[in-house]
Amino acid sequence: MREPVTAYVALGANLGDPRAAVLAAMDRLGTLPHTRVTARSSLWRTAPVGTTGPDFVNAVVALRTTLPAPGLLAALQRLELEAGRERPWPNAPRTLDLDLLLYGEARIASPRLVVPHPRMHERAFVLAPLAEIAPALVPPGALAAMTSQVIARIP
Ligand code: ADP
Ligand code: MG
Repeated sequence: MREPVTAYVALGANLGDPRAAVLAAMDRLGTLPHTRVTARSSLWRTAPVGTTGPDFVNAVVALRTTLPAPGLLAALQRLELEAGRERPWPNAPRTLDLDLLLYGEARIASPRLVVPHPRMHERAFVLAPLAEIAPALVPPGALAAMTSQVIARIP
């Protein structure tokens, strides 16, 4: 049996009912084999970064899992497909995006999976929810440096 690992997954959606999609995905993550959801951030409403379209709803969850990292990525991609995800072009609006931010202390650079997620430290919509559930993982001052990114916690 593998040792469980703490992994962090970023959720985002900006089509359909994005709030419902993110909440449903949080529940679905808890039904993955060998996986528990151990923390959930608030939902955050954010303006699109690097693209146009409706605002996003974003969140981050912590998982305890014995799935290996590639198996966890495959499971995340299955949940995206179940939610109706299509990829007509890069950064297209999406019904559900699930990104693996961190997988324990692992550093992974394969063609299909890069961990830590290479853009997580540039994105307020990742760092703000991550700071709620794992403040030690967010460098001091990182969020303060991102005042141009419009983001608001959904009460
Ligand atoms: P993005 O999330 O950057 O908007 P996609 O969700 O369409 O784009 O993902 C594109 C590809 O990124 C996926 O096919 C996946 O193999 C790859 N990828 C690499 N590293 C990761 C990661 N840490 N989490 C999720 N996908 C990743
Ligand atoms: Mg993605």
